[in-house]
Amino acid sequence: MGLIVQKFGGSSVADAQRVMNVAKIVTDTYKQGNDVIVVVSAQGDTTDDLIEKANEINPNAHKREMDQLLTAGEQISISLLAMAIEKLGFPVISLLGWQAGFNTNSIHSQARIKNIKPNRLQAEIAKHNIVVVAGFQGINRYDDLTTLGRGGSDTSAVAIAAALKADKCQIFTDVEGVYTADPRKVENAKKLKDITYDEMLELATLGAQVLNNRSVEMAKKYSVELEVLSSLNPIPGTIVKEAAKMEKMLIRGVTKDKDVALVSILNLQDTPGIAFKIFSKLSAKNINVDIILQSFGRDGTKDIVFTVSKDNGPLAVELLEEMLDDCKIVCNTDVAKVSIVGAGMESHPGTASKMFEALYETNINIQMISTSEIKISVIIDAEDADRAVSAVHKKFIPND
Ligand code: ADP
Ligand code: ASP
Ligand code: MG
Repeated sequence: MGLIVQKFGGSSVADAQRVMNVAKIVTDTYKQGNDVIVVVSAQGDTTDDLIEKANEINPNAHKREMDQLLTAGEQISISLLAMAIEKLGFPVISLLGWQAGFNTNSIHSQARIKNIKPNRLQAEIAKHNIVVVAGFQGINRYDDLTTLGRGGSDTSAVAIAAALKADKCQIFTDVEGVYTADPRKVENAKKLKDITYDEMLELATLGAQVLNNRSVEMAKKYSVELEVLSSLNPIPGTIVKEAAKMEKMLIRGVTKDKDVALVSILNLQDTPGIAFKIFSKLSAKNINVDIILQSFGRDGTKDIVFTVSKDNGPLAVELLEEMLDDCKIVCNTDVAKVSIVGAGMESHPGTASKMFEALYETNINIQMISTSEIKISVIIDAEDADRAVSAVHKKFIPND
């Protein structure tokens, strides 16, 4: 018995039957004597559909108006779930992000939570209400609605669990936990019993959509143990926690990220400070650069190649063209990043060569490589990405 935060993603509340299924899970938890706060996302593809509606009218709409629009998705699902819980005969109240005390900064569409004012949540819990909270949204200091970035409801749930020191934070979704690769794409992907925050953070950042990376970052910061589990199949899921005794595995997962653009600056003057000038200009415009490669100088020139997210590609090229004469700037968006993640690789020489061997055997060319203590990423042609993930997964995760 205690305070339990349960989060349900879009597919878990996609239609009336699924909403009733969630109401049953929530009320069963409440019946066992727990206080329950439920965070929900918009139903099914609602957020995508709203974005499409906006694009039909104005693809360059101000992000404030986009947030005003997108927050409506979660407003629908909280009220429907509250009605379902009421129908089952339990006391319930739904709250929008601002009503639940979510204060954020003002970066519309990518807002960060500054704090949660817990008074209302606590008051409703004290009245023994089940509280249903709209994920993905908050309010800034000008009383404007904000959203936390795609997949942000995970972060809303972890933030509540941290602010109210919940005993459990369960992330219910449409798969049974965190797998060694996307179980919808890779045959033989294996469910992990547990995984460390650091490994999960890398997986989430490198493309495993199952948890939003900011939610993992926050869970680590406030030591909130997470369980990722299915809303349709009541079996234990995957626990995300601090490193402890865990199953021994060289790598935990293989990911793919297609949201990559490769920007090349060719024949750049080889002078001191040029890299600083380029990357400070990009960072001033909030463009996040990922992998950077610089060639050796020859005849007074060199090449710099780097990756950014796809939507930042055109702006990066525009900024570079403004500041650099005499060099060629090219942006390639037909690329993908395939990565392996696992704390085990720190103490295992040969992990990188094993990954490259899998790609060689599948005849896939590597354009860039980047490594850290617990991950190795390669940039390859987008069309090779699925084959690459399967080949690398097969190399590291043996079939049963
Ligand atoms: P929700 O709507 O519940 O937030 P998401 O669609 O955001 O769900 O995330 C769940 C999806 O993440 C799964 O359906 C699965 O296809 C995908 N996924 C990608 N990589 C992984 C992985 N390594 N483990 C589990 N699921 C993954
Ligand atoms: N509805 C939002 C999205 O689709 C938030 C979420 O699902 O977590 O991104
Ligand atoms: Mg999600």
